[in-house]
Amino acid sequence: MIETVPDPEPERDGVVVAVRATGVCRSDWHAWMGHDPSIVLPHVPGHELCGEVVAVGPEVRGFSVGDRVTVPFCCGCGACEPCRLGETQVCERDVQPGFTIWGSFAELVALPRADLNLVRVPSALSDVEAASLGCRFMTAWAALHVHAGVRAGEWVAVHGCGGVGLAAVMIATAAGASVIAVDIDERKLERARTLGAAHAVSADPVDAIRELTGGGAHVSIDALGSAVTCVNSVRCLRRRGRHAQVGLLLADDRSVAMPMAQVIAHELRVFGVHGMAVRHYDGMLRAIASGALRPGELVAKTIALRAVGEEVASMGRFAQEGVTVVVP
Ligand SMILES: [Zn+2]
Ligand SMILES: [Zn+2]
Repeated sequence: MIETVPDPEPERDGVVVAVRATGVCRSDWHAWMGHDPSIVLPHVPGHELCGEVVAVGPEVRGFSVGDRVTVPFCCGCGACEPCRLGETQVCERDVQPGFTIWGSFAELVALPRADLNLVRVPSALSDVEAASLGCRFMTAWAALHVHAGVRAGEWVAVHGCGGVGLAAVMIATAAGASVIAVDIDERKLERARTLGAAHAVSADPVDAIRELTGGGAHVSIDALGSAVTCVNSVRCLRRRGRHAQVGLLLADDRSVAMPMAQVIAHELRVFGVHGMAVRHYDGMLRAIASGALRPGELVAKTIALRAVGEEVASMGRFAQEGVTVVVP
């Protein structure tokens, strides 16, 4: 439901941003369904945004009115131990626009602690492209480059080819890895092939990946978030392989039975990925500016703000193809 509410004011260390583009994500659907107890009604969702700063709190030093910015979905407090180590994505008192505070399915959004959390958007990136980075794309980048340390010539398996999975296919391919895309939906596998996947697998992924790679993938990502894809991702690794858990594990899947005997026998490494710290944006933005990565290709469609309610509601009924971005 769209209605008019009072304009937000910036906090002393925060800004107000006029939203130019904002992505629609599966976690918005989870929020809308009531799966997230941190949300209190009335509420404004939306967390993958690009916009222009229109008001600045008196303590902000690094940003001014007119700056074009984006923000990771998880904003840090700046004071806790993880924040002091530069790991704002696992802040102990994190603020998440669209979840713990009002978000960007709006004309204006207030963002906290601007100097710590905002990322300037280079002019080479469009509003829609920048909005598509804030959650799924940067999480895929973090999984592959910050955690798994993917290298050219390695095999990378991607389980689940929704928005984050397709981003992982693009990023791993650009890194010089050979990608095996796994999904049950042939259309998504076709998209994965277009984005550079060397192989596409729709059944018995563990055996298929072991066969294709001669022993297992070096890196594997569960980009869907389910007990089945998580365990498949670990089982398809070669010795000393790296598994990155990117898809959220909800409800009954929160405590997946991991094959820990295989983890120890093969010295597997297992990474949880909760977005990405602000300090890692530069490397990703440089890769985009160089043309090696083209996040705009993952955007399937743009819609108006008044259509966002129906779009979020439909996510429970239809599998999404690529990324939808709202342009208010
Ligand atoms: Zn998201
Ligand atoms: Zn913190």
